[in-house]
Amino acid sequence: MRQKFVVGNWKLNKTIAEALALVTELKNQLGAVKGVQIGVAPTFVALPSVAKRLEGSNIATCAQNTHWEASGAWTGELSAPLLAEAGASWVIVGHSERRQHFGDTNETVGKKAVATIAAGLGAIVCVGETLAERDGNRTLPIVDDQLAGALGGIAAAATPKLVIAYEPVWAIGTGRTATPGQAQEVHAHIRKRLAERYGQVIADGIRIQYGGSVKPSNAESLMAERDIDGALVGGASLEAADFIAIVKAARPS
Ligand code: PEP
Repeated sequence: MRQKFVVGNWKLNKTIAEALALVTELKNQLGAVKGVQIGVAPTFVALPSVAKRLEGSNIATCAQNTHWEASGAWTGELSAPLLAEAGASWVIVGHSERRQHFGDTNETVGKKAVATIAAGLGAIVCVGETLAERDGNRTLPIVDDQLAGALGGIAAAATPKLVIAYEPVWAIGTGRTATPGQAQEVHAHIRKRLAERYGQVIADGIRIQYGGSVKPSNAESLMAERDIDGALVGGASLEAADFIAIVKAARPS
């Protein structure tokens, strides 16, 4: 039985004060929720204060990106050991916005995932196709390439620290969600690929989140699908009430 994992990706939103206010409300209102793993990914500058506020709570602090090197001449970058020191326990790698605007490739996403796990953190590896790729019937081969790039350096022993997030690019921030059936089809395919790589037992233990316009009204039906093990939530994670409702929709029945 995989425990569902719901993470709010705040992207470039919230001042430090706003981040603290939101996280305080989440901590108060989600403290009693059992059977769901919860995380929030604030901006880098808010991350240490958010992590401190969340100490001792059931909400993990996540980072939105990392560099693959631990240190060196990489002006403007942050490393996984630094993120760990600042209080992060998970890192989102390969988000489509990073791939689209900041040059992340399947190869660098793989290096980031390896660096994240080497630093003792969990890696949430994002994959997903664009609308043109879906329309061209290329969803599964695109996801295969992304998985191959991301997982090449991750051994079976490291998979407890691995989560995959399937995020169709056409559903991110658009209000257009994949239907539960469309998402499940890709999730099942991802699990099949994980089984080929790591064996069925390990594949059955790896969580696969769905992301793309998840909201309180669609969260339950998406997460009811067999291979949908939680959500990576953008816009709806910025409002406490919406995020709380999504987390509650993930509770085991
Ligand atoms: C995301 O950024 O990972 C995301 C899924 O965004 P949204 O929920 O706003 O579509």
